[in-house]
Amino acid sequence: RASKLRELLSSERPVRQDPPSPTVPAVEDLQDAIDRQALTVVFQPRIRCTDNHLVGVEVLARWNYPGRGAIGPSAFIPIAEDAGLIVQLTTQVIDMGLEWLARRRPEQHLQMSVNFSTASLTDRGFPEVVENLARTRGIEPHRLILEVSDRAVMADPMVSLNVLARLRDKGFGLSIDDFGSGNASLEQLARMPFSDMKIDSAFVHDASRAGVARKVVRAIVALGHSQDMTVTAEGVEDHEALRFLKDIGCDFAQGYLIGRPMSAERISAWMDARAF
Ligand code: C2E
Ligand code: CA
Ligand code: CA
Ligand code: CA
Repeated sequence: RASKLRELLSSERPVRQDPPSPTVPAVEDLQDAIDRQALTVVFQPRIRCTDNHLVGVEVLARWNYPGRGAIGPSAFIPIAEDAGLIVQLTTQVIDMGLEWLARRRPEQHLQMSVNFSTASLTDRGFPEVVENLARTRGIEPHRLILEVSDRAVMADPMVSLNVLARLRDKGFGLSIDDFGSGNASLEQLARMPFSDMKIDSAFVHDASRAGVARKVVRAIVALGHSQDMTVTAEGVEDHEALRFLKDIGCDFAQGYLIGRPMSAERISAWMDARAF
């Protein structure tokens, strides 16, 4: 079954790329923005498919590049990685997210997902850094989920496994991001201590129409559940996709249909309006 899925995944993998960035930011400017703590974050809601209940948010980095407006993470995360700035950046993003989370009512049990890239995964000291950030903000570890793309994990599986296992031991959630977009072998992923699997938005988009993409999404949900993981679909943009995901027992959904990434103030208002 697994190899059948892989065949499907590789032959049907839709090619979706981010639009080219209009500006290539300079490393010095990025370093400066990090030093001045000028980066910001936005929050995107994640709901439970069965009853649309808000379970958490994903925190996404933003940078207001002087004179050129907000630029997206696809333009500056790779630069941060290459320049050795990603650990510093990730630390700031996590802390800004936790600061917002700490102000939510505790009975909401809201979770927060954060993106974790390769360089953070190969930094053996990172689990303690994350633990200290959460402790300082008074957030229980199970409320923080670290998302790691399947490509990042494969860059150095042994070190990744060490860091991931220690994060999991400390009680943090771990999600395989963009599942199906990289070349991680299912066997290797199954040995890693993930608690959630995030289906790449490319499959989710195609699944709002009929066809092989639906079979792939169904197979990914079954695969995740067989490994005792919850499954999250991202990039949910229309009602057809959400209905299909509900029908096949996908656990969580995220996407423009539910809510776009929003500033701290806007998502708080959004939550109030929806009585979350
Ligand atoms: P990702 O982790 O897959 O995040 C989801 C991206 O899809 C976000 O783009 C989000 O705005 C967008 N998105 C959400 N819902 C929809 C939808 O329904 N349709 C469409 N077309 N797009 C949707 P964003 O914020 O530009 O982030 C891009 C990528 O940059 C992220 O992909 C993540 O890999 C990376 N990233 C973002 N913030 C951070 C960060 O703090 N640290 C690291 N290491 N990476 C980050
Ligand atoms: Ca993510
Ligand atoms: Ca993703
Ligand atoms: Ca993605």
